[in-house]
Amino acid sequence: MEPPEMTWKCSNCGYTLSRQVPPQQCPSCKEKCEFLDVTCYTPECTPGGQDPRIG
Ligand SMILES: [Zn+2]
Repeated sequence: MEPPEMTWKCSNCGYTLSRQVPPQQCPSCKEKCEFLDVTCYTPECTPGGQDPRIG
């Protein structure tokens, strides 16, 4: 069983992507950014959705 995907947000450009681990390099701004976990864990959210309270 694979671990669930998480939603990551680039701290540099705000790009979000869903995968199990954040990439080393942001595919949007091509920088080595810090990716913030913005995964929405509340039951109302769709899988892989972003929590609107974050970011
Ligand atoms: Zn970026």
